Amino acid sequence: MMAILGAIIGLVVERESWCTLCMEGLGRFQHCIVVPGQFRNSCVSCHYASVGKDCSVRPDVEKLVKNGYSPVSNIVRQICLQKQLDNSLEALKKLVQDSLTQRDQSMDLQIKKLQGLMWERNQAIEERDRAIVASNKIIETSNQAIEAGIATLLSEVRSYRADVAAAEKTLKREE
Ligand SMILES: [Zn+2]
Ligand SMILES: [Zn+2]
Repeated sequence: MMAILGAIIGLVVERESWCTLCMEGLGRFQHCIVVPGQFRNSCVSCHYASVGKDCSVRPDVEKLVKNGYSPVSNIVRQICLQKQLDNSLEALKKLVQDSLTQRDQSMDLQIKKLQGLMWERNQAIEERDRAIVASNKIIETSNQAIEAGIATLLSEVRSYRADVAAAEKTLKREE
């Protein structure tokens, strides 16, 4: 089981450096695979065949391990990098979401302001219409007063003329 896991996360040895078992095509796996720091640094095929201590790549893998190479730490590093990427993606998403929310809020505010302006405008229009109705009434009333004044004036003129005619008749009779 561990050998199979090793075959998944391990390193494939370059063809010319394969261990004797793998070179002869007797290994459990198709390639000579090592997992530095695991299986006593033998290849997985030799470990699987329980001849790990005789694996000819061991000294080279031990050198790798001494130099600090570890596939496990590499995988951990990859996971950490992935986590960092996920975190920054998450932060980016949040930033976008926040700015969208802010935009929506400022749009709501602008719509409310516009609605307020519309309401004020409608109020002004209603007020203007009321003023027009009131001034029409004033005009109508004054027209009526003017008409009444003219009628009075005409009847005064008529009675004045009648008086003048009567006076002329009286003068003629006396002549
Ligand atoms: Zn091998
Ligand atoms: Zn081997």
